[in-house]
Amino acid sequence: MDKKLLNKKVGIPRAISYYNNYPFYYGFFNHLGIEIVLSDKTTTKIINEGCKYVVSDTCLPVKVYAGHVVNLLDKGCDVIFVPSIQSTNYKINNCSKIRGLPEIIRNVINREFIMIEPTLDKTENIDLKDFCIETARVFGISDEKLIKEAMKAGWSIYNSFLEMTQSGIPYQEALANALNRNSAKKTIDIVKPLSVVIMAHGYNLFDERISMNIIKKLEKMDVKVYTSLNVPHEKAISSIHSLGEVQYWANELELTGTAAYYLLNNKVDGVIALSAFGCGPDSLMVDEISYHCKERSMPLIHLTIDEHTGEAGFVTRLEAFVDMLMRKKRSQLEKKSDKLEKQSAEILKIRNDKVLTGTSK
Ligand code: SF4
Repeated sequence: MDKKLLNKKVGIPRAISYYNNYPFYYGFFNHLGIEIVLSDKTTTKIINEGCKYVVSDTCLPVKVYAGHVVNLLDKGCDVIFVPSIQSTNYKINNCSKIRGLPEIIRNVINREFIMIEPTLDKTENIDLKDFCIETARVFGISDEKLIKEAMKAGWSIYNSFLEMTQSGIPYQEALANALNRNSAKKTIDIVKPLSVVIMAHGYNLFDERISMNIIKKLEKMDVKVYTSLNVPHEKAISSIHSLGEVQYWANELELTGTAAYYLLNNKVDGVIALSAFGCGPDSLMVDEISYHCKERSMPLIHLTIDEHTGEAGFVTRLEAFVDMLMRKKRSQLEKKSDKLEKQSAEILKIRNDKVLTGTSK
């Protein structure tokens, strides 16, 4: 076996599957006694580094991923976990770039390193257990009982993370609590004048550099923000079906599932679609939701991001959208209050008429 693998250290790029799956990876690797080295948080340098390796028309998340692999290599970590997540349910596939991530990375980063590249492909009956066995084998671990326990440890952290996000705890806080096995403080649902749902992949939305901190920016504008992490998995699936659509992509629940859930519950004042420029699946999903928003007169803005997106233009569009939502809400409230005023005037008039004609007791 390779000498480095005896060190039992694995590098995990803080990109793509990290954003949804890290609580599981953390519990799993820790239980097996494998130390995790994370790449740094995304910076402009990491993005630029990734862009040097990947052709320009590739989507931003893949360029960012390559930048994180380089960051790990520069830190001296040369065993890197690059999973190939093909499908998460029978015929529910990921996009070709996520499926072929190990191939892309191997072909573009011409440096010496060991890649751990397990496959998850439920369409082909390759499930999470196979994925975990393949990963552990690289470190010389073949004890299935131990691997099963490590999976259990992964699920336990993952489920506590999910429980916290679904109860409204912000992503970073829920992640830190779950990893440190802290129980979460009860959240108080603060009522805000406006609320929006952001339909976006976790790797675009929760990477603060990529999303330009959109959640915090909206909160500063006094807007309540909902994301895919607030929606239970089954409800996201049933919401897609209730709109008469079918789930095709593995990560569709983060976009159509989430937006559909809030559209059907009539819980938000607007929808923000945040996607990477050049992403084929996202453009189809945004089109689908735009259609349903139009039918319900629900405002939607589509913000696309790439490595050149400037913060000033991004904020201007966001502010203009929030202004428009505020004007719409104000006019709806004014109409409602006019209607109420008219109704009370009518009631008063009926009462007075009854008094005058002596029919009132
Ligand atoms: S879903 Fe879109 S943004 Fe995500 S990796 Fe695939 S092409 Fe890129």
